[in-house]
Amino acid sequence: MSRRTSRSPKPAAPSAPAVRPDGPCPCGLPAAYGACCGRFHSGAAAAPTAELLMRSRYAAFVVRDEPYLLRTWAAATRPRTVDFDPAMRWTGLEIHDTTDGTLFHTTGTVTFTARYTHGGEPGALHERSRFTREDGAWVYVDGDITD
Ligand SMILES: [Zn+2]
Repeated sequence: MSRRTSRSPKPAAPSAPAVRPDGPCPCGLPAAYGACCGRFHSGAAAAPTAELLMRSRYAAFVVRDEPYLLRTWAAATRPRTVDFDPAMRWTGLEIHDTTDGTLFHTTGTVTFTARYTHGGEPGALHERSRFTREDGAWVYVDGDITD
């Protein structure tokens, strides 16, 4: 899971929005990125709840952190790669509901709306995501898109 330092990043990388460690976290919590989802992305800490994993995965889509998305995806449902659409800009996350997913659970769900613009057109993704623990760490299983 170590990130290679490369002089030739993947084509999508240069257009990923820059998020600074001391800047606002894309997940919407009132904390700086480095102290919020950034510490999960770097591997310095693991998300303790399904909701915080969900937020950190949303933030990983914002900063296009493919290794983080893959290592927080359940082995059974994990894709080989994550394709980031260069026209996609994630603009905000709202958590509506959670079930279980705390320190005391092994599964949980998070219902959320993720807003975006795609080629300048605003849109929103409504999803109820399922999470489980693998080797103690929360991972994303799958989700139902809701209207
Ligand atoms: Zn965050």
